[in-house]
Amino acid sequence: MLQAVARVHRGLFHSRAGLSVRMSSTGINPKSVLANRVAVVTGSTEGIGFAIARRLAQDGAHVVVSSRKQQNVDRAVATLQGEGLSVTGTVCHVGKAEDRERLVTKVLEHHGGLDFLVCNAAVNILVGGTLKASEEMWDKILTVNVKSPALLLSQMLPHMENRGMGAVILVSSLAAYIPQVKLGVYNISKTAMLGLTRTLSLELAPKGIRVNCLVPGIIETRFSQVVRTQVAAESEIPDMCSVLLHRLGQPEDCAGIVSFLCSPDASYITGESFVVAGFSPRL
Ligand code: NAP
Repeated sequence: MLQAVARVHRGLFHSRAGLSVRMSSTGINPKSVLANRVAVVTGSTEGIGFAIARRLAQDGAHVVVSSRKQQNVDRAVATLQGEGLSVTGTVCHVGKAEDRERLVTKVLEHHGGLDFLVCNAAVNILVGGTLKASEEMWDKILTVNVKSPALLLSQMLPHMENRGMGAVILVSSLAAYIPQVKLGVYNISKTAMLGLTRTLSLELAPKGIRVNCLVPGIIETRFSQVVRTQVAAESEIPDMCSVLLHRLGQPEDCAGIVSFLCSPDASYITGESFVVAGFSPRL
């Protein structure tokens, strides 16, 4: 049922992108809100990160996409360049220091600095309770999901300062607000992203850099397959996500809010979290 509804809405998104009033025949309108800005999106060769990269580029930014696998980077870059968008890419496993360094080098080579960093890459390698996690599992999940965004930002920061409108978007999860029984350590890593958002927003405000957080609900991607199959049986979340708006979330549902948070319209918003879940888990 959910899958059938989702297929219908995927079709809607694709046709809507083709009709975007913001785009010219070359892909972007030079007067677009993010024109000439530079954005880096991690984990952006498919799913939510890819939709964010596409939207930021449609709204005028030069976008650097990245993920762990060269073939995925090549495919994403070719697809977006084929749409007339200003996109380059490089391999970056966010948990590897040398890969993060390569990403910084690539950004500087191509653009000389950056304005927006979207930390989207994350892993979950355990479907089970928190106390079932080995030390290696803890290290891997916390390294990739929590430490890496902070370390990448610290490497990018010198090149973001003094560019006028810096913005960082961290990606959490609905699991931070409503923990899922079988996603123990992942729940915790995504709760940490809310804390990281609040703390970094304080630390970077004096530099004019805003830090906000995207909190997706269940969005139809490869990553959420596990939640929709193995975890869903013991959770009311999929029903909550689909009942109000009668469909599953799509990656594109998460993209517009990120573009907005990068834009001057969000210039007085920092330290905030934005739930995109088809319902609200908060008061
Ligand atoms: P996805 O469709 O599986 O895409 C993940 C992307 O990240 C791919 O481009 C993948 O490419 C890349 N990637 C994976 N591990 C990486 C690493 N260590 N370093 C760099 N890139 C990496 O995932 P998604 O559903 O869009 O999820 C994106 C974000 O949204 C994650 O932070 C996730 O926690 C969050 N989220 C998703 C949902 C949901 O329902 N989908 C809900 C809440 C939160 P390679 O394989 O080439 O590396």
